[in-house]
Amino acid sequence: MHMRRHLPQFDPELEGYIQQEEKRQREGLLMIASENLASPAVLEAAGTVLTNKYAEGYPGKRYYTGSAYIDKIEQLAIDRAKQLFGAEHANVQPHAGSQANLACYFALLEPGDTIMAMNLAHGGHLTHGHPVSLSGKLFKFVHYGVEKDTEVLDMDKVEKLAMETKPKLILSGFTAYPRAVPFSRFAAIAKKVGAYAMADMSHIAGLVVGGVHESPVPTHDVVMTTTTKTLRGPRSAIILSKAEHAAKIDKAVFPGMQGGPLEHIIAAKAVCFKEAMTDEYKEYQKQIAKNAKTLAETLMAEGLRLVSGGTNTHLMIIDCTSLGISGKQGADALAECGIYTNFNMIPFDTRKPADPSGIRLGTPALTARGMKEPEMKTIGKLIADLLKNPTEEQKEKNRIAIKELLS
Ligand SMILES: *Cc1c(COP(=O)(O)O)cnc(C)c1O
Repeated sequence: MHMRRHLPQFDPELEGYIQQEEKRQREGLLMIASENLASPAVLEAAGTVLTNKYAEGYPGKRYYTGSAYIDKIEQLAIDRAKQLFGAEHANVQPHAGSQANLACYFALLEPGDTIMAMNLAHGGHLTHGHPVSLSGKLFKFVHYGVEKDTEVLDMDKVEKLAMETKPKLILSGFTAYPRAVPFSRFAAIAKKVGAYAMADMSHIAGLVVGGVHESPVPTHDVVMTTTTKTLRGPRSAIILSKAEHAAKIDKAVFPGMQGGPLEHIIAAKAVCFKEAMTDEYKEYQKQIAKNAKTLAETLMAEGLRLVSGGTNTHLMIIDCTSLGISGKQGADALAECGIYTNFNMIPFDTRKPADPSGIRLGTPALTARGMKEPEMKTIGKLIADLLKNPTEEQKEKNRIAIKELLS
């Protein structure tokens, strides 16, 4: 927990809410697949006077004076990102994943060009061409999706669609896909049709560092990732690319998309990358995947159906259809006893996005708390018990069990 000296005195109302949120995070089971627990060192870097500095431009090429130390800090983040992922170029300035994705599109394409990406109802992100997103307004999207019987991608069909539609960029990497992304196959298809290969590894960047998931970096023109999620850094993003695209990427981020970079958050990213170079961190990533496997097996043994029949990443999606509840009802019931997940579309969902059939959940934050397979079995049972029987009585039983588990 952060010890604050000035905020409690100046703004007790706000301090009170922060403390309540700290308590919620401490006393609940954080199972939203995109959330994690940044380390105290990451939080400290994010809370520094670096927030005071305006530093438009890049290290050595700033539009403001007084940037000597800022340059050192940003260069450290760049060098560590390159080393960590084996990338030729890194831009650490994108404020968040959505900005990073748009910057990649603008770096490589002209408005109106065609991008091929995952169907949003099958695990694609809003910035992968949703009509309400700037991505969908400015570029033409062709979407591939999973198969109805297996709920995984059939890469021969993806290749056929690419041959037919001739996109200028092929994007892979997803927000709600429980299976490994076949990155090298995506890159090969892009090469075959003369498209740029881009990967959005936001959800799985940590797993990539841990060697649990194939890296897209060697085979792709451009790779972006959020620095939160499995990577366990601050709420932000980076772009990695081949050297030949470096100048275009940098120009698209600044001045194309953004003004001054958030140097305090860039410092926090540098801390995250240093943490990610340790053996302990790689063990942590391996444990995330082991925990997800155990949790999925427990849920299925309890009779729940998981999209694609399980997981080999950090996340899974429960199909609530046979339980007679919607995903929202299920996620709300779980939240009432301190198990935080999110409702999610399942492939070929017959329900609406605001009240879909699925619940998405993952293991990064629980694993960050040191939990292992035995806890996953206990938690899987608690989740199944409640979804099968979402009564006040069962909620109370779960609350007691969770308190015990966390004590
Ligand atoms: C989270 C995520 C993003 C966007 O990240 P924000 O930081 O929320 O803008 C983009 N793509 C994928 C696949 C994601 O999971």
